Amino acid sequence: MAKGHSIQEFQTEFLEEASCTAFLIKCRWPDGFVCPACSKARSVALKSRPRLIECLDCGHQASVTAGTVMHRSKLPLKTWFWAAHLMATHSNGMSARQLEDQLGVTYKTAWLLTQKLRRSMVNPNRDLLEGVVEIDQAEIPFRVGDTFFEPGNAGKILIAGAAEVIDRKTNAAKPRRKGAKYLGTRSGRLRLAEIADNTAESIEAFVRANVKPGATLITDGHASFPGLSSDYRHDPRVVGKMAAHIVLPWTHRAFALLKRWALGTYHGLRSNHINTYLDEFVFRYNRRFYRHISFETLLGLAVHRNPITYWDIIGRANPRKSRITLKPMIDKDGGHILHSAQTQDVGEPELTG
Ligand SMILES: [Zn+2]
Repeated sequence: MAKGHSIQEFQTEFLEEASCTAFLIKCRWPDGFVCPACSKARSVALKSRPRLIECLDCGHQASVTAGTVMHRSKLPLKTWFWAAHLMATHSNGMSARQLEDQLGVTYKTAWLLTQKLRRSMVNPNRDLLEGVVEIDQAEIPFRVGDTFFEPGNAGKILIAGAAEVIDRKTNAAKPRRKGAKYLGTRSGRLRLAEIADNTAESIEAFVRANVKPGATLITDGHASFPGLSSDYRHDPRVVGKMAAHIVLPWTHRAFALLKRWALGTYHGLRSNHINTYLDEFVFRYNRRFYRHISFETLLGLAVHRNPITYWDIIGRANPRKSRITLKPMIDKDGGHILHSAQTQDVGEPELTG
């Protein structure tokens, strides 16, 4: 499969619709296609309609892209594959402008590709952080309007961050006595989200959404979090501003990388869709030691995700949506059963290459 490939090898491997389809079939039915209608396993890929697979026993046709991020897309599959490969393996990710140049598609197409792929970078069943977790918040400047980022003309977004603290020796989290230094550690998984303000309520809601009860929370100690005291072990550190990178090194480092990434790749984030950018950053950060396989993860996740429409992205109802069906799906990572609301929409704007 697509492990550790250069972009040339990758593009050669996925040059034709047929090879892309074969890859998708392998992802969706790792033990071989089983007909959802008659449960038999004899099938044929249709030559005339390459995204369809037909049951040889009952004639049922299944789409290999239904329910995926590529659902109902008119773009060649190779364009999706190449975009996913670039976004997953490039160390800084890709902006729509960069993708436009790399793939030779229109800006609108590149933009929608990045939006859709970025939304498939979150596993809906991802586990909560646990063990020892740093909690911190930071202000990130964002770009106003369509101009390039200028420090004098920027808004501020408040971001909360949570980072697991892992002992290097044992590769596991080990809570220490309160106030003890966490030397010899590295950062584990990261979570980031926009928060409305710096109040205890906002930060508590972020912690509850991202950290397992029982975990030890290391904070900068400027605020108290009364709502968390019964469910978490709070280890606040009272420090001056200068020492924040010493007591909360891992969230501090993540925020610094986030700011650099936002400026380098996007010339400053915009406030729209901010959480999807944060999710992209977190996806890449949490896979920083095995970037080459994250393409498979990304497509694997994408294959088992709900389809996302243009209307979801711009946050408006599809005026021509016809009906909604519920379809059970298996999530690859968590192994849980999902019930995906699959919208049978007809109103997706045409995407052209
Ligand atoms: Zn069948």
